[in-house]
Amino acid sequence: MSTMAAPMHLMNTYSKWPIRLVKGEGNRVWDDQGNEYLDFVSGIAVTSLGHVHPKVTKRLHEQLDTLWHCSNLMHVPQQEVLAQKLCGLSGLDRAFFCNSGAEANEGMIKLARRYAQKVQGTGRYEIITFQQSFHGRTLATLTATGQDKVKDGFGPLPDGFVTVPYNDLEAVRAAVTEKTCAIMLELVQGEGGVHPAEEPFVKGLRQLCDEHGLLLLIDEIQTGIGRTGTWFAFQQYGIKPDVISLAKALGNGFPIGAVVATEAAAEAFAPGTHGTTFGGNPLAMTAAIATLETMEEEHVLNRVGILHRQLVSGLEKLRAEYPGKVLAVRGKGLLLGVEVTVPASSIVDYAREKGVLVLLAGPQVVRLLPSFVTTEEEVNRVIEVIGEAMENL
Ligand SMILES: *Cc1c(COP(=O)(O)O)cnc(C)c1O
Repeated sequence: MSTMAAPMHLMNTYSKWPIRLVKGEGNRVWDDQGNEYLDFVSGIAVTSLGHVHPKVTKRLHEQLDTLWHCSNLMHVPQQEVLAQKLCGLSGLDRAFFCNSGAEANEGMIKLARRYAQKVQGTGRYEIITFQQSFHGRTLATLTATGQDKVKDGFGPLPDGFVTVPYNDLEAVRAAVTEKTCAIMLELVQGEGGVHPAEEPFVKGLRQLCDEHGLLLLIDEIQTGIGRTGTWFAFQQYGIKPDVISLAKALGNGFPIGAVVATEAAAEAFAPGTHGTTFGGNPLAMTAAIATLETMEEEHVLNRVGILHRQLVSGLEKLRAEYPGKVLAVRGKGLLLGVEVTVPASSIVDYAREKGVLVLLAGPQVVRLLPSFVTTEEEVNRVIEVIGEAMENL
């Protein structure tokens, strides 16, 4: 690999950090200068088992030597295994596999519209979404996203999305019309500043959906696969959604997305209505099966709760120590946000210079997304570095 290459031929879609990672192992990553970092970003909630997990890597190697790709015109046995696994963990009934989060949300949106129009026969198509949400970068998913910055310059946007304030049940109730077919939300808004949904709000949404025959669509792309301490965040709210979307951690870094639905909702798709060339390929399926099995075998979900308590207590100590600088500590499991009065980017930059990777969730929130195999010493190190940043800024 040439170290002389420059990013001048890449489209300018990210303001990148000044590092080039070339290797990872567990919670450690290394850049091309040989610097080591403790990784509390995990590729934005992707590598939940740590980088290059040996069990997942071994299974993927075996699959690489066996079969990479076959068309969805044929049965892919690994899809059936993974679908059964996800349905067992979620209590839902049927899965569709694709390649990314945005693509999973597209599938979920298509399923909701087609369910209303073909199964219920109502002709309804409008989906209620929330301010500060994030659902992806395709035209439909950026329209569903409740943040103007992702929409700027991309009009005309597709019709059929209505955005209301988060955690405001009355606003949702007022937005339901004869055109509404579904309500779509994250249970912790990750990109939007790490804001958890309140339980009465979520229960109220379920009830509202039942009253009006709407589908409840939960975007579990960031919160799913153990990130909040349960397999799916909805399991902490005492409700059952009609459809969920998954991606990020499902393949521990191998690209994959999924839509998982109840039998009733899944009925809207018939042969020819939705599809993908690469979705559900044997490599992605194997990575995801190995990821889920490893998470079960190593009981990592227990670790999420333990690490959550340790991280929150450390961060709350910093809040007590720097009350003018740290305003709040929010989140569930290992999806945590620290709201600060200083620019959050200066903390992210300071930590990186000290060999610790953390990220932003908006200009005033530092987001922590450690892997589930993080140690207590590593948590202490991150608290220490954020504390130093508070002292110095
Ligand atoms: C990351 C994310 C997406 C988009 O996933 P991509 O794989 O980047 O398309 C959608 N929704 C949520 C909640 C996310 O965190």
